[in-house]
Amino acid sequence: MDALPDFRMLNPATLDEALAARAANPGSIPLGGGTDLVVNIRRGIVAPPVLIDMNQVAELSTIKADVNTLEIGASVRLTALAEHPAIIKHYPVLAQAAGHIAGPTQRNMGTVGGNLCLDTRCIFYNQSEWWRTANNHCLKTTGTVCHVAPKSRGVCFATFSGDLAPALLALGADVDIAGPAGKRSIPLNKLYIGFARQDVPVSETQGDGKFYLSLRPGEIVTAVRAKNTPGLRSAYDKIRIRKSIEYPVAGVAVALKREGDRLAELRVAFTGTNPRPVLLDGTAALTGGGLDECVYKKFDALVRDQIMPMKTTFTPGHYRRRVAGVLARRLLTRLFED
Ligand SMILES: Cc1cc2nc3c(=O)[nH]c(=O)nc-3n(C[C@H](O)[C@H](O)[C@H](O)COP(=O)(O)OP(=O)(O)OC[C@H]3O[C@@H](n4cnc5c(N)ncnc54)[C@H](O)[C@@H]3O)c2cc1C
Ligand code: SF4
Repeated sequence: MDALPDFRMLNPATLDEALAARAANPGSIPLGGGTDLVVNIRRGIVAPPVLIDMNQVAELSTIKADVNTLEIGASVRLTALAEHPAIIKHYPVLAQAAGHIAGPTQRNMGTVGGNLCLDTRCIFYNQSEWWRTANNHCLKTTGTVCHVAPKSRGVCFATFSGDLAPALLALGADVDIAGPAGKRSIPLNKLYIGFARQDVPVSETQGDGKFYLSLRPGEIVTAVRAKNTPGLRSAYDKIRIRKSIEYPVAGVAVALKREGDRLAELRVAFTGTNPRPVLLDGTAALTGGGLDECVYKKFDALVRDQIMPMKTTFTPGHYRRRVAGVLARRLLTRLFED
């Protein structure tokens, strides 16, 4: 196993101290539980000279959850989220997603901020230094070619695999961000800019896969917030290779409202498939009536069109797309009939 390289660790106690530490150390990056970041440092994928430990920042470690609203600090641990009684009751999709992440050890260490800002993954990237060197590296680090799509013209297709993002997208969440220019709040969907469909220049709203978050230099995620929708039914499910501890082959969050025999509202979001979590477009057109075969067919077509996995994990892309569709259909049926 590779040894950890040298780095300095700063331990701010307040958000202001954390922001000042980032500003004073331009190459620094925030450290949540370190369950992904430290692995990547050990593998030589990233080499920050300074880590800013977010775990002592008390104002980022609180959960406020009731029947009306939800607010979760970025340093809240995944276990706390999965076990929170009000979240289990009013926002089940989120508690279930948190409970499906990795294994108990990672959930005890891993944080909400770290999960939302999780680096994208690929079998050519999440490897040891010698493995990547033997393969001449790839676009995501120091190489010149994407091994998944050699004709990709600079675009990386590594997969976003965080489980919380789809659950929060289905709840319509916003994310709070703090940085050198102050605080701002954006819809969670806008945090993710991983390449999805077109080959266009990198901008604040559209990355090339190497850049997958819209955070500006020095910015930190501080919290995520959502309002409850009365009558919303929600749930999360995922398929993974080892059920006790594994990233999703595909993960799906579904939130819907049923009024009588009508599907009144539908939100569906995926992870483990594209370079960003995908909030399915076009679901409003499926609402207004019951759930019949015609609705399911249109639903399958939306999934086929928007879920575009590449060969970046151990399972083939077409398999992940089928799994995502089947999981989503099952959740949709179950929640509608509950
Ligand atoms: C064996 C194994 C299995 C795993 N399975 C899963 C899984 O099933 N599902 C899943 O989602 N994840 C999985 N993971 C990945 C990881 O454990 C989780 O995603 C965890 O939630 C990451 O949180 P963390 O606090 O440890 O993040 P860290 O590793 O500390 O950080 C991750 C990234 O987020 C950034 N970051 C951290 N906090 C902030 C902040 N406040 N603002 C801005 N950026 C920030 C860091 O700089 C880093 O780039 C797995 C990991 C392992 C080792
Ligand atoms: S998709 Fe291509 S560029 Fe991105 S990590 Fe994989 S091999 Fe590298």
